[in-house]
Amino acid sequence: MRTPIVAANWKMNKGIAEAVDFARDFLNRALPPDVEVVICPPYTAIAAVRGELEAAGRSDIRLGAQDVHWEVKGAFTGEISAFMARDAGCSYSIVGHSERRRMFSETDAMVARKVAGALAGGLAPILCVGETAEERDAGLAESVVARQVRTGLSGVQASDAGRVVIAYEPVWAIGTGRPAAPSDAGRAARLIRGVLEEMFGVGVAESVRIQYGGSVDPGNMGEFMSEPGIDGALVGGASLDPEKFARIVGYRRS
Ligand code: PEP
Repeated sequence: MRTPIVAANWKMNKGIAEAVDFARDFLNRALPPDVEVVICPPYTAIAAVRGELEAAGRSDIRLGAQDVHWEVKGAFTGEISAFMARDAGCSYSIVGHSERRRMFSETDAMVARKVAGALAGGLAPILCVGETAEERDAGLAESVVARQVRTGLSGVQASDAGRVVIAYEPVWAIGTGRPAAPSDAGRAARLIRGVLEEMFGVGVAESVRIQYGGSVDPGNMGEFMSEPGIDGALVGGASLDPEKFARIVGYRRS
């Protein structure tokens, strides 16, 4: 049985006071015990959210970085390493988000190094994959997603692969209010699991959690979770509001 995992990607939103307000509100809400929750604040707010989680005795709610560099330390101005994120209290890191691929020119090869760096630094990577609208219209969605998974995990040992989470995020669905059809997301999850099986065998393929991301909200979460291959969500916009995010975490299968 794979434990569902729902992650909040706050992107470049929330200062420290807002992050604390979110945490206090969110932690007062009823959350199901069988869903793993990950909050990925901006780096500057990680310590504040960690403080709120500790004060509330909620170390079961995990922290994640939104990105990490592949090296452990060195002359990489503006970057942080997996070791540093771990030191700050993170258990996860988003890697290869489409905004980083598109706006910061991250290639599949760089993403692969980050996935390996995250694992080496003690973090579980949330590897984001997904096709653009142009790739989808050209009939390339499946080959793009398969390539991103294969290359992204090319530096991962089979013994570590079960720690990886994969987020299928069609780029055209992110922040647009136009989510993928749940059945299409389910098909993408099957494709991804097939690639995992080729690379690491059926045991790993069945244990890796696959999230859907792209305009998830409290109204559609249950439909995505009804797809057998989808084990959770990576949530951007709707994760900024504690009430909405708590309703997403507390989804009911439709
Ligand atoms: C994201 O950026 O990972 C994301 C899924 O965003 P949104 O939920 O806003 O579409």
